[in-house]
Amino acid sequence: MITIDPEDRLICLRAREVSADHHGAALPPISQASLHRKQSMAELLQGLSREHAAFVYARGTNPTVKVLEDTLAKLERAEACKCFASGMGAVSAVLFGLLKAGDHVLFINDIYGPTLELAARLEEFGVTWSRAFAQDIESIGAEIRNETRLIYMESPGSTLFRLLPIKKVCALARLRGVLTIIDNTVATPLLQKPLQLGADLSIHSCSKYIGGHSDVVGGAVMGPAALVEEIFYKGYMLLGAAMAPFDAWLLLRGLMTLPDRLSRHHEDALAVATFLKAHPKVRKIYHPAFCEEDAALFEKQMLGHSGLFSFALDAAGFAETLAVADRLRLFGKAVSWGGAESLVMTGHKADPGADKNLRVPGTLLRLSIGLEGADNLIGDLEQALS
Ligand SMILES: *Cc1c(COP(=O)(O)O)cnc(C)c1O
Repeated sequence: MITIDPEDRLICLRAREVSADHHGAALPPISQASLHRKQSMAELLQGLSREHAAFVYARGTNPTVKVLEDTLAKLERAEACKCFASGMGAVSAVLFGLLKAGDHVLFINDIYGPTLELAARLEEFGVTWSRAFAQDIESIGAEIRNETRLIYMESPGSTLFRLLPIKKVCALARLRGVLTIIDNTVATPLLQKPLQLGADLSIHSCSKYIGGHSDVVGGAVMGPAALVEEIFYKGYMLLGAAMAPFDAWLLLRGLMTLPDRLSRHHEDALAVATFLKAHPKVRKIYHPAFCEEDAALFEKQMLGHSGLFSFALDAAGFAETLAVADRLRLFGKAVSWGGAESLVMTGHKADPGADKNLRVPGTLLRLSIGLEGADNLIGDLEQALS
């Protein structure tokens, strides 16, 4: 069973209470205005001097988006939150906002592909980066350079879902004067609270579980007010990835059922993974509950699992892996994850060949377990694997 913090359940349901009175409306109104008029020029100029905290222009702050921001900040136990048009909007604003030429970024664990593509793009502006997969703190410490400005991590990591000792990494980084950022998308603010473990910033793609219905793209950054404000002016306002008010409204709606959806995803993914583990055509399961080395970390820093995991087939290769995925009827063949419909995706966009040393095996399939029920999904996998 999954234990959601009772306080979080109420925060998810009562987003309206963080906003001003909207005549008892069950959800805040969608404030579809690009600009806000002021009573005087003095008030307008005052607003312009602090756009992160005043409603002036919708590329800055919007009343509906602000209700979502305040709600997400509460859930993550953060002082402040800024929302973005997408998860990558959030990642871009953080990296562009905090880095300058000469800085180095250390990425730890398996990182979402486009985030690394962005890092490669930043090389052209004089930023360097490197990757580490270690879990032990000595090896991670050895990867920190004099010019390291940020440590950027994912735990659970993308695709293979390995965990990191978040508290230890953050303590080490603090000693070395390095900021820590964690992409907390897989865990959601309900299953893991990285800021309480010492991280400086937490990033989410809201397009996944927070939205939960495959109908909205969004992102968020949570952390101390001063740091979020710095990102607001140096990243968010200039790159312009502003969240639409309607999208904020959809995300507030998604949040209401997040605790219960997560419980279902957690249970059913465990059931499906248990079935696959016993299947003769499956070589390995990539799920934190099936990884002995990560069991102690899970107990320390997470309240439950998501519905996302991968497995590697004992298949001959990539073509057979695609054929198994093609035979699935209940799993949509699609990117992204976190919605009501189960999805399947390969670990590679093209045949990686027969190289046995690949970190992500060529025969890996990632499943996002939706809400169809474990029995239905197991039946589908059984026929696809037979
Ligand atoms: C999807 C995802 C992102 C990017 O989010 P978008 O909303 O698609 O831009 C970032 N990090 C992780 C771990 C993701 O899964």
